[in-house]
Amino acid sequence: MTKTSVLWFRRDLRLQDHPALAAAAADGRRVLGVFLADDVPLTASGAPRRAFLAAALAALAESMDGRLLVAHGRPATAIPRIARSVGADAVHVTGDYGPYGRRRDAAVAAALADAGIDWVATGSPYAISPGRVRKGDGGRFAVFTPFFRAWTQHGWRGPATSGSGVDWVRPADADGVPAHDPAEYARTVPSGMTLPDAGEGAASAAWESFMADRIDAYDQDRDRPDRPGTSRLSVHLKWGCIHPRTLLAELAGRRSTGAAAYRRELAWREFYADTVFHLPASVWTSVDPVIQGMRWDSGATADERFAAWRTGRTGYPYIDAGMRQLLAEGWMHNRLRMATASFLIKDLHLPWQRGAEHFLEHLVDGDYASNNHGWQWVAGSGPQAAPFFRIFNPLTQGEKFDPSGDFVRAYVPELRDVPGKKVHRPWELDGGGPAGYPEPIVDHAEERAEALRRWEAR
Ligand SMILES: Cc1cc2nc3c(=O)[nH]c(=O)nc-3n(C[C@H](O)[C@H](O)[C@H](O)COP(=O)(O)OP(=O)(O)OC[C@H]3O[C@@H](n4cnc5c(N)ncnc54)[C@H](O)[C@@H]3O)c2cc1C
Repeated sequence: MTKTSVLWFRRDLRLQDHPALAAAAADGRRVLGVFLADDVPLTASGAPRRAFLAAALAALAESMDGRLLVAHGRPATAIPRIARSVGADAVHVTGDYGPYGRRRDAAVAAALADAGIDWVATGSPYAISPGRVRKGDGGRFAVFTPFFRAWTQHGWRGPATSGSGVDWVRPADADGVPAHDPAEYARTVPSGMTLPDAGEGAASAAWESFMADRIDAYDQDRDRPDRPGTSRLSVHLKWGCIHPRTLLAELAGRRSTGAAAYRRELAWREFYADTVFHLPASVWTSVDPVIQGMRWDSGATADERFAAWRTGRTGYPYIDAGMRQLLAEGWMHNRLRMATASFLIKDLHLPWQRGAEHFLEHLVDGDYASNNHGWQWVAGSGPQAAPFFRIFNPLTQGEKFDPSGDFVRAYVPELRDVPGKKVHRPWELDGGGPAGYPEPIVDHAEERAEALRRWEAR
C-alpha cells in the first residue's frame, strides 16, 4: 500500500528547492500538505504580515491544485490528529531554529512519538542551519566578519529537486480537523497600505528582475532609497517563498562586486539567526550589556514623541519619509531602518525595544532575528554593532542618500512642491516650511549632545 506523509508548511511556502518536500514525497509517498494557523505566532504578527501570509498561502494552495489543508489549532494536538486522520506514518518539516519554533517542535515531536508517528526535520530557512557554523573550539561566532569567512568556507548544498509530480492528498480526506480560512487576515490590512505580491511565482519574478537589471550595481545602489537598488526579497525569504540557496546558486555564476555584496547581506541574515539560536534571550535583551544603566525617557512627552515618530511627523523629512514608507508598504529601505532607529534611540532617548516592536507590527518581512538584532546594531548593544556614540545625523543622511530629495517627496505629500535637496530642511525656505508639515520636534544637535552625556554617565 502507498504510504502517506504529512508535510507541515511553516516558513517554507514554496514547492521548488524544498528539501523537506523531497523527503516527504520520497519513494512515491502520498503527501498531505498542511498549514496550521497557530495563535501564538499569529497574534504576535502585525496585520500586514498576516495579510501577506494569507496571500502566500493562497498562491501555495493554487500551485497544489487546491490541495492545501489550512487548519486552526494548537500544534501539539492538531498535528498528530491530522496525521492520524490520513494514516500518515511521518510528519515532515523544515527545521525551525527560533526560540518559539524549537519549543513548539519539541512538543509536537513528543506527541507524535506517543502516537507512533515519525518526526522528520529536513533543512532550514537558511543556506546553513543556525548553530552549524562554529569556531575551531566549537563555540559560536560573536562577530560577523569571522562568521562570514567560516560560513563561506563551510559552503552549502545545491538546490533540492522537489515540487513536480507530488501525489497530494485531498485535504477533505483529513476528517475532524477544523479548517480555517486565512483570507480573513487579508481584510485586516491597514487602509492605504499596498503589500507586495506574494507566493513562489512573485518571489522568483522579483529575483529574476533583480538579477537581470540591478545585481551588478547593487554595491553602489543599495544605499540609495531614491533608487530601486535592492532586491526586495526580504519578505519572500521571511516566508520561504524562495530559499537562499536558490539565490546563492545563481550568484555563484556572477563575478561582480554587486553579487559579492549581495552574498554578504544574505550572510548577515544567517549571522543574526545563528546568534538567536545560541542566545534565544537576545531577541528582547541586549547581547552586549554596554548600554545597561543608560537613562531612557518615559512619560507623556516621551509618548508624544514616540507617536510623532510612528506616524512620520517628527519634522525631519528624511525620518518621516522612512516611517511613512513603512506605513504605506510594510517595508522600509535599510538606510532608513538605520536612520529612523538611531533617531528613536539617540534623538528621542527611547529604548530600542519600543521601536523594534513597532517595526514588527508593520513590517511584512518582520523577523525577530533580523529586526531585533538590526535594532541592537544601531543601539550599540548587538554583536559587531555600531558603537552607541555613532549617531546618525537625520539631515546629512538625507542629503547624502537622497540627494535630489525624490525619496522624501514620494512619501511626504506636504513637501511635494519643495524642489531639490531643500526638501531636507523645509524650515530654511523663504517664509518657513509648507503648511501642514510639523516643525522639528527636537533639535538634533542638542539631543545628540544629550545622548552622549547619558552614554558617559551610564
Ligand atoms: C533596525 C533594522 C530592522 C530590520 N528589520 C528587518 C526585518 O525585520 N526583517 C528583515 O528581513 N530584515 C530586517 N532588517 C535588515 C534589512 O534592512 C532588510 O533585510 C532589507 O532592507 C530588506 O530589503 P531587501 O530585501 O530589498 O534587501 P537587499 O538589500 O536586497 O538584501 C538582500 C537580503 O539580504 C538580507 N539582508 C540585507 N541586509 C540585512 C541586514 N542588515 N540584516 C539581516 N539581513 C539582511 C535580507 O534577507 C535581504 O532580503 C533590518 C535592519 C535594521 C537596521
